[in-house]
Amino acid sequence: MLLTIGIIYFIYVLTKIYVSTMEIGFVTKAKQDPAVILDPSNYIKAANYKIATQRMEMLSTLVEYLMFIFWIGFGLRWLEKVITIQDPTLKSVAYVMAFVLIGYLVSLPFDLYKTFYLDKKFGFSNMTPKLYIIDTLKSAALFFVFGGAIIYVLVKFIAMGDNWWIWGFGFIFLVILVINLIYPTLIAPIFNKFEVLKDERLKESIEKLLATVGLKSEGVFTIDASKRDNRLNAYFGGLGKSKRVVLYDTLVQKLNEHELLAVLGHELGHYKHKDILKNIFMTGTLMFIMFYIFGHLPQALFDAVGVPKAPHTIIAFFLIFAPIISFFFMPIVGIVSRANEYAADAFGAESQDAPALANALQKLANENKSFPKSHPLFIFFYYTHPPLIERLRHLGVKIDDEPNP
Ligand SMILES: [Zn+2]
Repeated sequence: MLLTIGIIYFIYVLTKIYVSTMEIGFVTKAKQDPAVILDPSNYIKAANYKIATQRMEMLSTLVEYLMFIFWIGFGLRWLEKVITIQDPTLKSVAYVMAFVLIGYLVSLPFDLYKTFYLDKKFGFSNMTPKLYIIDTLKSAALFFVFGGAIIYVLVKFIAMGDNWWIWGFGFIFLVILVINLIYPTLIAPIFNKFEVLKDERLKESIEKLLATVGLKSEGVFTIDASKRDNRLNAYFGGLGKSKRVVLYDTLVQKLNEHELLAVLGHELGHYKHKDILKNIFMTGTLMFIMFYIFGHLPQALFDAVGVPKAPHTIIAFFLIFAPIISFFFMPIVGIVSRANEYAADAFGAESQDAPALANALQKLANENKSFPKSHPLFIFFYYTHPPLIERLRHLGVKIDDEPNP
């Protein structure tokens, strides 16, 4: 049993490292080609950023592997011993929280390195230690209150017996839906300041654009995203016909009105094509598969690891193995999602015009320093959006992409 799960995990780790290695090789080579889409200095920077983040990813995957060995070989039994709470439900909740906390602490150096070294070096991050600590405390509070409550309910379900996984699935799926629903109005404001967009003309144009697909605006806001990061973004929130439009202040500063509307047009394309529903359906399918598997874990697995089959050990196994399932499921999501992106681009282009969207995408890429090309295997596993070079070609931009011989 231990050998089987060891091999499965090893294949997962090996695949991830192999894909990263291919990507690093591909980008290192493509870096020598004449710059496309980005201006030459950003082209090189984007390539270097890609290589640096992939190197970090590889190291992080190795640590993930060591943590797997730690938990299976020793950690799960150790936690069982050190948490001595009598009440079985509370013990389970404490166990899962300790498990998550340890995982967080192990990944913390990577996050710090990325935020305070890599992203600063490449000019993205405006993060200050003070803001980082405040963010962390807020997230921790959310985790202890809501995370704790969610774990508590899940533990109760598992304790009910064999068919718990159906209830567990329904419950967690509902939680995901609710979080998505309340995120823009209740969660995002905890981390960012929302301000009503002052530019009345732009606001009017946005509302007109929403009306073309039968939507009403529930307010157009800008958020102070630049206090953390210089990358640009925008999103729509809310259920039903009323939408809250959220623009990053960075987006408003860097794009002109025409380009900004084209970007929003793209987002409205997703709405028009019901892509959000498709995503919810795919997430649901993935969750269902996971809960089915973790609802049928064999007793032999628990015996082999030396822990009792209890709600908290089931959840711990879930947290250890779920990344493998989602990693191999992601390519399916990617194929659907990339097709959706082309369709949304077409819609955005139609709502303004293709050059406006193409310009906006190029500006976004320059500001976000996203390298426009990727190894096919990397695209297959990780890309929810098509590579920029392909998106621009679909928008009718002529790109002269002659690799050096
Ligand atoms: Zn999109």
